[in-house]
Amino acid sequence: MSFASLPVAIIGAGPVGLAAAAHVLARGATPLVLEAGPKAGHAIRQWSHVRMFTPWRYCVDHQAAALLATRGWSHPPADEIPTGGELVSRYLEPLAASLVPHVRFNARVTGVTRKGCDKVRTAGRDSLPFVLRVAAAEGAVIDASGTWSTPNPAGADGLPAIGEIEAADRIATGIPDVLGSDRAIYAGRTTAVVGSGHSALSALIELAALREAVPGTRIFWLMRKERVEAAFGGEEADVLAARGALGSRGRTLVESGAVDVVTPFRISSISRDADDRLRIEGDHAGKTTALMADRVVVATGFRPDLAILREMRLALDPWLESVAGIGTLIDPNLHSCGTVRPHGAIELAHPETRFFIAGMKSYGRAPTFLMATGHEQVRSIAAMLAGDIEAAKRVELDLPETGVCSTRPAPGIKAIVSACCGPAPAKVADAACCGGSAPVGIEACCVEDAKAKAAGAVGCGCAPATAPVAAIAES
Ligand SMILES: Cc1cc2nc3c(=O)[nH]c(=O)nc-3n(C[C@H](O)[C@H](O)[C@H](O)COP(=O)(O)OP(=O)(O)OC[C@H]3O[C@@H](n4cnc5c(N)ncnc54)[C@H](O)[C@@H]3O)c2cc1C
Repeated sequence: MSFASLPVAIIGAGPVGLAAAAHVLARGATPLVLEAGPKAGHAIRQWSHVRMFTPWRYCVDHQAAALLATRGWSHPPADEIPTGGELVSRYLEPLAASLVPHVRFNARVTGVTRKGCDKVRTAGRDSLPFVLRVAAAEGAVIDASGTWSTPNPAGADGLPAIGEIEAADRIATGIPDVLGSDRAIYAGRTTAVVGSGHSALSALIELAALREAVPGTRIFWLMRKERVEAAFGGEEADVLAARGALGSRGRTLVESGAVDVVTPFRISSISRDADDRLRIEGDHAGKTTALMADRVVVATGFRPDLAILREMRLALDPWLESVAGIGTLIDPNLHSCGTVRPHGAIELAHPETRFFIAGMKSYGRAPTFLMATGHEQVRSIAAMLAGDIEAAKRVELDLPETGVCSTRPAPGIKAIVSACCGPAPAKVADAACCGGSAPVGIEACCVEDAKAKAAGAVGCGCAPATAPVAAIAES
């Protein structure tokens, strides 16, 4: 059977899945998007009240825009920043409408395999079509199902804290709409926000606005990091101003006392006391400590749901659970800068031919995924599936820099950090943050810094940190 006569199955009608469909169509193949929810952007609808940090220019895939333009759609202002809800209504919904009849809603994929054989069999495997439970055989599969439905727990060691599951009715994941539909359950109460990423910052900023309006609202911020400053990110050095501003606003909230920071705090258990309040217990700087709250907001990131892929031959990074080929590019143990070299089908390949994981799920547990990265991934994957290897290998994306380059390395990985801001062995330079060490003779801390300076900018944002980073590299 020729797989070319079968559609390319795309799991998920989020921004990356729908962009993948546009690229597959543009390559003359037939996409079939299978979406578990009833509408496009099902995961993003859960945080529709949140303003994003990337402007429209980084949210719209160029092939999707080309498809939409044939239907009279006009691109929203490139420099405006949408909310999640606007992203859905002004972009994803019209995009899904323009992809009818290639999108099926209420179609949850529960398993992916090869027709007539399990994971063990090798002979003839590559020529067999895929079978998706829910749908018929498909010629290729792009899993763009995201990670939204599998958030990390509050428990510091990766497992749910003792009692966390039992207290689930008082624990929210992500960013609850505390100024809107969830206001009544947070107003005048004490909430502990757990986590140190952009979602935690967004939740804190909204809770602080509620605190201004409703006295008695109290906010704890709990994180595993040693120092709260590490959660503020690149601030004004971030090329994405709105993302940098999240950190700056977080800093203001902490300095003004609107938020009580408890760090490092490693949660071990959550229980209810006699008054039905939550007792959050953990290790605070070496001492067992407990604090009381009415609600907990867990914003500790996400992990991929790999269960549906049990029969696929996957190459995954052992600890990130990302696609193996991008592990070194995105590993937060090696990079703080969140600036990820664009990558495509080659890096995203698995032992399973014509099978790809793209979008948020391709990063596994690693943070800092940007939609623009996913758009580049699916452009390259569609080219690869169409046999256009040259286009698949080409990089067509410039990603914004976070402006942070301050990873404190674990013992034994000193060379990788110094690759960012000094000479590095060639084999690690490419995996290092900001593209590796600067060319010889150029006064810059890394490749990206050198490029930015050559273009007349102040640098990539690492440069001001030359001294501290050097100190870290030597410590
Ligand atoms: C609060 C917040 C703010 C963010 N802001 C930004 C920003 O400003 N800029 C940026 O670039 N990124 C931002 N991100 C990251 C952003 O979510 C991702 O970039 C983007 O949504 C990932 O797109 P995706 O298509 O990979 O996954 P998703 O958007 O999660 O879409 C996955 C889709 O797959 C469906 N699905 C899941 N499982 C199955 C299944 N088994 N079968 C069928 N369908 C399934 C889901 O219902 C969903 O519709 C933000 C994330 C959050 C949480």
